[in-house]
Amino acid sequence: MLKVDGITVDFDGFKAIDNFSMTLERGQLRVLIGPNGAGKSTLCDTIIGRVRAASGHVWLNGEDITALPEFEIVRRGICRKFQTPGVLPSLTVRDNLALAARRDRRWWTGFGHAVDATERVRVDEILAAIGLEDRATTLAGLLAHGEKQWLEIGMVVATGAELLLLDEPTAGMGPNETSRTAKLIKSLLGKHAVLVIDHDMKFVEELGGKVTVMHQGKFLKQGTVEQIRNDPDVAAVYLGR
Ligand code: ADP
Ligand code: MG
Repeated sequence: MLKVDGITVDFDGFKAIDNFSMTLERGQLRVLIGPNGAGKSTLCDTIIGRVRAASGHVWLNGEDITALPEFEIVRRGICRKFQTPGVLPSLTVRDNLALAARRDRRWWTGFGHAVDATERVRVDEILAAIGLEDRATTLAGLLAHGEKQWLEIGMVVATGAELLLLDEPTAGMGPNETSRTAKLIKSLLGKHAVLVIDHDMKFVEELGGKVTVMHQGKFLKQGTVEQIRNDPDVAAVYLGR
C-alpha cells in the first residue's frame, strides 16, 4: 500500500533523510525507531507532503503522491498524529470526533444536532474503541494527558484514513497508559495500516510486529522486536558507539 522509495530530504545541505526506503502493506503495523534526530518525524512529514523530498518517491496504492499537496494526500487516506495532542479543547470529546469524521464536509453546518445516524454510530464505535465512552460530553481541554492522546488517535481513525501515522503516541505516558495505547493501536490493525514512531522498547515489545530502525537519516535494520533488541548494530547506535 505504501512504498517509500529512496527518499532524501535536504535541509540546507544537511541530509535529514538519506536514500531511505520502506514498504508497508494494507492493514499492517510498522514500528519505526531510531535515536533522536534519526529523521523519523521528517519521514512522516515527507509522507504526508509537509516536507518536500530532494529525491525519491512516495507511492500510495500505486499512485506517486510525492509532489501532491498535503490536503490531497490526506484526502487519499493518510492521516498523521503529532507528538503533542492536537484536540480542540473547547469542544466535547464527541464533537472532536464528529468534526474529524466530517473532514470532507462543511464544518459550519454545526455539531451534535447535525450528526446523522450513521455518523453517530461511527462516533460511538470510536468512543468505545478509545475507551472514552464515559467522557463523551467532557470538554477535550479537561481530559488527562493520556486521554487526549487517545482522543487524537480516535480523531485520526474518524477521518477514515487507511494509513495512520502516529508520532510518539506514548510521549508523557506512564506504564499503564502506555500499555492501553498499545492495545488500542493493535485493535485498529486490519482496518488501518499504522506506522508508529516510538522509542519506548517496552511499548514496542507490546505492539509486536515488524520494526524498522533509522539512524542518521538512513535505513539501519529491519526485523522482529526480538531480532532488533539483540542486534549489535542497533545497540551501538543507541549507545552512541
Ligand atoms: P527524529 O524524529 O528521528 O528525532 P527529526 O526528523 O525530527 O528526527 O529530525 C532529523 C534531523 O533533521 C535532526 O537533526 C533535526 O535537527 C533536523 N531537522 C528537522 N527538521 C528540520 C528543519 N525544518 N530544518 C532543519 N533541520 C531540521
Ligand atoms: Mg521525532
